[in-house]
Amino acid sequence: MPSARTHDLITIATGVALAPITYRMLSERALFGHAEAMRLTIWLVGAHLISGILFSPDLDLDSAIDDRWGVLRWIWRPYMRVVPHRHFWSHSLVFAPLLRLAYFYVVITGLIFLSVWGLAALGVVVPDYHLQLFMSLRRLIAANPEVSIALLAGFCSGSAAHTVADWAVTSGKQLLARLGLRIRRDYSRHDDSIHRRLFR
Ligand SMILES: [Zn+2]
Repeated sequence: MPSARTHDLITIATGVALAPITYRMLSERALFGHAEAMRLTIWLVGAHLISGILFSPDLDLDSAIDDRWGVLRWIWRPYMRVVPHRHFWSHSLVFAPLLRLAYFYVVITGLIFLSVWGLAALGVVVPDYHLQLFMSLRRLIAANPEVSIALLAGFCSGSAAHTVADWAVTSGKQLLARLGLRIRRDYSRHDDSIHRRLFR
């Protein structure tokens, strides 16, 4: 499979390609002026890059991707253990990126809830930040429906660029195998996981 670095390059290249296509599609519609089309394009491409680089489908294995979260990498440990590698749950086109987004939201909200609950148990009164976060997000989405859709579309396209690249490599290898050819290249460093295990 492509390495994490190759996937990053694919994410950036597809993001760059997506920008003029999105801008043109949006500005050609009477609903959006040029400034609004530009704003939505920036949101969509930004979400595409964040999705591909930070919320990559390969968070389903101990890889270079979770390292990018630094001290917050523990967030993805349960996800990594539960979701099988390169399965529908992590490598499908729409469901998988939305699941990662939902998972991230649930973990962050759960953490805030536990902190509030723990402090309340100690007699410290803290506002219910988890509910405030939910209400703020709901208000933001309701007030900015176009931006919300652009963000979701970019989040899905960033993940799809990864998944399609994985599929292309798998199909290419199968095709070559059917033709009696074998790829000599060593893919064992997919996402640097095995490499990390050996040299850590
Ligand atoms: Zn992958």
